Amino acid sequence: MVREAREMTTVEEILEKHNLGKEDITALLSAGEDDSVAIFRKAREVKNEFVGNRVYFRGLIEYSNYCAKNCLYCGIRSGNSRYARYVMTDEEVLAAARYAWENRFASIVLQSGEREDEAFISKIEQLLRSIREMARNELHITLSLGEQTLETYRRWSEAGAHRYLLRIEDANPDLYRKLHPDDGRHAYQDRLEALQALRATGYQVGTGVMIGLPFQTVSDLADDLIFFRDFDIDMVGMGPYIEHKDTPLYEYRNQLPPLRHRLQLSLKMVAVLRIMMKDINIAATTALQAIDPVGREKALQAGANVIMPNLTPVKYRQDYLLYENKPCLDEEAEHCKSCLETRIQMAGDTIAYGEWGDSEHFQKRS
Ligand code: SF4
Repeated sequence: MVREAREMTTVEEILEKHNLGKEDITALLSAGEDDSVAIFRKAREVKNEFVGNRVYFRGLIEYSNYCAKNCLYCGIRSGNSRYARYVMTDEEVLAAARYAWENRFASIVLQSGEREDEAFISKIEQLLRSIREMARNELHITLSLGEQTLETYRRWSEAGAHRYLLRIEDANPDLYRKLHPDDGRHAYQDRLEALQALRATGYQVGTGVMIGLPFQTVSDLADDLIFFRDFDIDMVGMGPYIEHKDTPLYEYRNQLPPLRHRLQLSLKMVAVLRIMMKDINIAATTALQAIDPVGREKALQAGANVIMPNLTPVKYRQDYLLYENKPCLDEEAEHCKSCLETRIQMAGDTIAYGEWGDSEHFQKRS
């Protein structure tokens, strides 16, 4: 009893601090269930004070599952021949963007496997211009298309992209190496430089990590949060690592913490990040829902303020499985929207229809 009382005091004392050091962050991430309640409560207070109880929609369009990379954890890696590869037609992309615009989502995310060839780059450029014209410049567009050159980032920015999401996946270079093939095309330094190029181009920059990976420690996760802070990131999308059987990393599945533990750790990551970076945008990612039907709602209650309803045509979704057990594979956009409305209300938030929801953090810096 005495020991429990002292631990509770310690977490509460940490939560009173203005700046969290690595030891503080590690202690919060290691907190047991009772202490986690206090962490989530504090994160909710910070969220309400700094970004409000509004949730921003980003309509997700999974444009193509062709990828030139071969990350060891990813279901659509180039080495996985079990998926039929697809590219959405221009009409399908525009129809999805139109749905977002007409339903006042105000923002979309165009995501794809990574390609650096000119045909791909100019196709994205053209799609950006078409979406901008169709929606009369009223949709804000986030890209999630991997590592590109500074020049490509500039071209896409000039064509109408506002934000860019490029996950660091793990801020520890040693762990990053274990998650990627050692072939000279998957270097940690390249990822870092791509993030710097995005910042230099003027995007709102988002990144993120996977939580509960094999070989990963709580100390690594604390370093991930410190990386976000040091990089002064504007948006974060992070969620539990969920293994995919057609990937090399599946071999280490016996070393993984149980799924419930990965979920709990992910929620604590969201909450501690909200406490550390009060005015950034944090996504309640779909991977949380793959473990717990109300995982995303729990993340909203723990500090997240962005949700990405899937607008990808249903016929493609089975072929865009970065991880297994991905939810909502057969839900059309309309059903997905009304389902989310109810869920978000249950979490005590409201949807900010018609608002771009740019990161407050980005707006203050710029
Ligand atoms: S994580 Fe991204 S870059 Fe890596 S294989 Fe998957 S889609 Fe391609």
